[in-house]
Amino acid sequence: MVQKDSLTVVDNLPFVLDEGTLLQRFHLTADSVFVDGALRFAREAAALARPKGLYKVSAVEPAGDDTVLLDGILFTSRILRVNLDGRHRAFPFLATCGREIDDWGRALEDPMELFWADALKELALEAAVQALGAHLAGKYQPGEQAAMNPGSLPDWPIHEQRALFSLFGDGAAAIGVTLNDSFLMSPVKSISGLWFQTDVGFVNCQLCPREECPNRRIPHDPHLFERRYGPPGANGGH
Ligand code: SF4
Repeated sequence: MVQKDSLTVVDNLPFVLDEGTLLQRFHLTADSVFVDGALRFAREAAALARPKGLYKVSAVEPAGDDTVLLDGILFTSRILRVNLDGRHRAFPFLATCGREIDDWGRALEDPMELFWADALKELALEAAVQALGAHLAGKYQPGEQAAMNPGSLPDWPIHEQRALFSLFGDGAAAIGVTLNDSFLMSPVKSISGLWFQTDVGFVNCQLCPREECPNRRIPHDPHLFERRYGPPGANGGH
């Protein structure tokens, strides 16, 4: 763990494979002829995977009706501004499956192995997010947290990644995450965002009308934007 000012980089995060979860993500049943090979493959990936992440403590200052300052950097989002009402700090974060497993996976050619590698990278990213959140909770006791991510809702568009990454300084490069000209991250299995304390809860999916999304975590609430974030505006999901 490396700490620089209020930025904490955590690069020794555990990646422990759970066999049941693994087979489920590989779409294999326990009696499949592919199980032994799949488990060998997964162990090879786990041995080289180095999921990692960073977070920082940022000072929050309201700016306008739909803008807010984090450490003096301007962010434009009505939802973000309202979600940070009354908060004096928030926790920008970045987590990744890591370059090690990403580079290994991109050298594969077999379609089934590519599918398995993608699932393993997803699991490594989930391990990074979970461990990073636990690290933050242990250090700052931040209370009930919710997350927002640039690009998840039109209200906080993906180009705000540039401002978010400016908060990380050289931390993003230190954990091997880069942004391209379209503000997409590499490795692809990376996630950026902001954790903040909430008494009422918040999940992006509540404001996202997209139907049949395989990653939906909570039902769409068509009246939430008007109720909590009015005046009404565009609020579709990514
Ligand atoms: S429903 Fe799907 S697309 Fe919409 S915010 Fe949730 S995860 Fe993203």
